[in-house]
Amino acid sequence: MATNRIHDVVIFGTGLAGLRAAVEIARQSQDQVDMALVSKVQIMRAHSGCAEGGTAAVLREEEGDSYDLHAWDTVKGSDFLADQDVVDRFVGISPREIRLLDHWGLPWSRRKDGRIYQRPFGGHSYPRATMAADKTGFVEMQTLYDTLTRYKNWTNYHEVFATDILVHDGKFCALSAIDCTTGEYLAIRGKCLLIATGGLGCLYGFTTYSQTVTGDGHALAFRAGLPLEDPEFLQFHPTGLVPSGILMTEGCRGEGGYLRNKNGDRFMDKYAASRMELAPRDIISRAEMTEIIEGNGMDGPNGLDYIYLDLTHLGAEKINHRLPLIREVTMKFLGLDPIKESIPVRPVAHYSMGGIETDINGRTRIENIWAAGEAACVSLHGANRLGTNSTAECLVFGGIAGEEMLKYLKTNRIELPELPNEMLLEAENCIFKNMLERNGSENPYILREELRAIMDFHAGVYRDGKELEAGLNKVRNLKERFQNIGIHDRSRVYNTNLINSLETENLLLLAEMLLIAALNRTESRGAHSRRDFTERNDKEWLKHTLVTLSEGKMRITYKPVTISKWKPVERKY
Ligand SMILES: Cc1cc2nc3c(=O)[nH]c(=O)nc-3n(C[C@H](O)[C@H](O)[C@H](O)COP(=O)(O)OP(=O)(O)OC[C@H]3O[C@@H](n4cnc5c(N)ncnc54)[C@H](O)[C@@H]3O)c2cc1C
Repeated sequence: MATNRIHDVVIFGTGLAGLRAAVEIARQSQDQVDMALVSKVQIMRAHSGCAEGGTAAVLREEEGDSYDLHAWDTVKGSDFLADQDVVDRFVGISPREIRLLDHWGLPWSRRKDGRIYQRPFGGHSYPRATMAADKTGFVEMQTLYDTLTRYKNWTNYHEVFATDILVHDGKFCALSAIDCTTGEYLAIRGKCLLIATGGLGCLYGFTTYSQTVTGDGHALAFRAGLPLEDPEFLQFHPTGLVPSGILMTEGCRGEGGYLRNKNGDRFMDKYAASRMELAPRDIISRAEMTEIIEGNGMDGPNGLDYIYLDLTHLGAEKINHRLPLIREVTMKFLGLDPIKESIPVRPVAHYSMGGIETDINGRTRIENIWAAGEAACVSLHGANRLGTNSTAECLVFGGIAGEEMLKYLKTNRIELPELPNEMLLEAENCIFKNMLERNGSENPYILREELRAIMDFHAGVYRDGKELEAGLNKVRNLKERFQNIGIHDRSRVYNTNLINSLETENLLLLAEMLLIAALNRTESRGAHSRRDFTERNDKEWLKHTLVTLSEGKMRITYKPVTISKWKPVERKY
């Protein structure tokens, strides 16, 4: 039987987006709103803590930057699929977020004159990556968490794994969840919900993501009937360390690093001569793959051929001061000192531009559910995100979602939505009967590994219809085999065997969904690059994909792109 826990607001996911929303609710309500903060890991272990390079904001209008320039860079970077009203709102608010965090104690890197330092980043035509060395996400998380601890009206449900978003009468009524530390089954109820569960990058084998980033929030929302928007756009970051996939931040190139092929050439002059190593990520990832395919890369382990990220000309002082984490990681993982040697890198799965569809206020189609951060698609990044715009998005739209939920609670005098008993019982059975008691012959860990290899191979930097279709068939086959898994650990406390299987079930659903959307979009735009449809096709495809699950079937519909200031033009750098 479930234990009921009742709150005003349920915050599902406590990375940057979830924490920023919680802080907003706490401070605006003066600690009068009772919040549940739910996370499958301890708060500081959210993937946001891994963000390295920086957070975008216009802080230097007097020195030449402007809101319009940041907006234009973002729209052009998105290959014109971003909603321009969202972009405008975002660039207007992100500077305030940097200053707020400064006031809350965040130790931003500074210039000699004491002002906040900003470094260049790919696709941005002005240096606007605000940073704390190369540990930006970690200190942002710490500052928000510290700030939240000044308030009292919240309950920390960490190491609590959510399995279902329960919706009754068109409203969210509870999050169904397992307390991993005790095995207790919980119904975490509230008057509204924020989904802030991050990305889905563990769909891929070669990825920068923490192993915990399995798209659970996407999958739960999808099953609850919410559409996922633009899921085919998956970003590959140009510099994943070979062979682990650990991110070598774009800050390396922002500080002046070069990319070189096996002949020592800075090959980016062939692909984006005006921006070179600071072109947007989709363009550089394609350039690297082209070099590798044409035989200009180095042979790597397990087919992970690579090119070089060269920092040797930057000198010890700059590397130690601005990129200390990069040096620590390459020394620990490869015994390689970037002051003296080049770093082996290749494109790596890094970010999902798509996510749970929301309006410009972060609200979904279910009236008391909001989504923010990487899990959401407010449509800021379109077909390709610019580096540093994601942490900024988490802050801006996390804050907005917090504010909006508060308004909702105030204006509507909301009652706690009813939670029918049968619904809860069914959700409980899904975990403890349907999943935990499976005793088939398939090993769920092997299925997850196979899935990730399929996605690496079939839905990578370059795609084509035949490969996508073959990938889709393989994933459907894995889904069938998954019905026959065996779970060996039958205990309730810290049952990682059960949790990992639930995650794998989510990943399988999302893989199928992503492949269907990718197959459907017969053009090349941003990160979605098809060999069989090599051109961007605005006539037919200047529109957002929406995928909905209804009665077990995935259905695709479309939504127009909001274009206000900038008509699409050829995207050249
Ligand atoms: C290595 C790396 C470096 C990056 N560097 C930068 C950068 O420099 N600048 C930039 O702008 N962006 C960067 N990004 C992207 C950016 O960091 C992320 O998009 C952003 O931090 C995501 O934050 P979030 O709040 O949406 O989710 P996350 O921080 O991923 O948090 C997700 C939360 O959801 C919870 N959760 C998920 N599933 C469940 C479940 N089933 N039950 C309970 N809880 C659950 C998790 O426990 C966690 O609390 C980087 C990403 C990576 C991977």
